Amino acid sequence: MSMHGFVNPPIVRGSTVLFESTAAMADRKNLKYSYGLAGTPTTKVLEDQLSELEGAHGTALVPSGLAAVTLPLLAFASAGDHVLVVDSVYSPTRRFCHQVLKRMNVTVEYYDPYIGGAIADLMRPETSVVFLEAPGSNTFEIQDVRAICDAAVAGGAVTMLDNTWATPLHFRPLDHGADMSIHALTKYPGGHSDLLMGSVSANRKTWDQLLKTQTALGINANPDDVSLVLRGMKTLGVRLRQHEKVALELAKWLETRDDVRSVLHPALPSFTDHEAFKRQFSGSSGLFSFVLDGDAMAATRFLDALTIFGLGYSWGGHESLAVLVDLSDRTIAAGPETGPLIRLQIGLEDAEDLQADLERGFEAAMG
Ligand SMILES: *Cc1c(COP(=O)(O)O)cnc(C)c1O
Repeated sequence: MSMHGFVNPPIVRGSTVLFESTAAMADRKNLKYSYGLAGTPTTKVLEDQLSELEGAHGTALVPSGLAAVTLPLLAFASAGDHVLVVDSVYSPTRRFCHQVLKRMNVTVEYYDPYIGGAIADLMRPETSVVFLEAPGSNTFEIQDVRAICDAAVAGGAVTMLDNTWATPLHFRPLDHGADMSIHALTKYPGGHSDLLMGSVSANRKTWDQLLKTQTALGINANPDDVSLVLRGMKTLGVRLRQHEKVALELAKWLETRDDVRSVLHPALPSFTDHEAFKRQFSGSSGLFSFVLDGDAMAATRFLDALTIFGLGYSWGGHESLAVLVDLSDRTIAAGPETGPLIRLQIGLEDAEDLQADLERGFEAAMG
């Protein structure tokens, strides 16, 4: 796209694309653009950036992170199939499995995040998809991505990994044997809590089926929101470094406190999965959890006393957030049972201010 020297691509909105002749119209399969549903020159810039970062053959953009989970599941799971999903999965992914895949007569089985190569024992002739998420949602289990993907592929399944936490800057699933990498661009790539978007980056083997399904479903991303993600991508590296640094500082500080039972952060040397993390990831991000030494009422007092941390879902934006984690949908990866689990998203505020806010929370938790 010629941009006449402007450093950013224009926002190209559009449905109709005009053809020069009936011959060009008949031959539209060979044109770059023939209808807005397949994307515009603006969406193409973000697709190409993500494909490059993920080492992927192609990237599909969709209207939310959750749609980036459901699109590849719909693309590769058919009636009668068996699908393996990690038990520490983002819970709306599980909801899609039991509300939609089940109705499609797809059998969903949840597996232990620590299964590794032994996933081979769960593979059936009709297993079509193995779904991974690393680290696990809220509890941060680190899967052995290479061992699981190799066994899945040997058993004839495709693999997809929800890579939202690490971003492509800190983990590249396709380099570890996964076929597809999923992102909620809503989180760090968007980075400012003002949009929803998702992406699926696929290797050559899975790209055609993924793209066909996206086209058949009629979903893509809005070019205005794409331009916001393109803006976010320019500062992703520096923002992530700041989120990572302050989150790790605060995690280390939390570990020293008597009113904290444990801290679940993959980059902490004390974390159970730290070695598996270091072997596969090049860095961490700003989301982690800790177990409060207290009961559910203490957790409520802690959260209600916070003034900088907001109480809200999602993460990856500039602002710090805290939520009480509910793990009641887990069947295998139960998580710590020693007390209430609180998840923190560390934003871009000053570390000292955030620490003072958490201290206010601990004081209130004491009652
Ligand atoms: C937030 C999130 C999603 C969904 O993203 P939305 O844009 O909110 O739909 C999917 N996977 C993970 C791991 C997430 O954290």
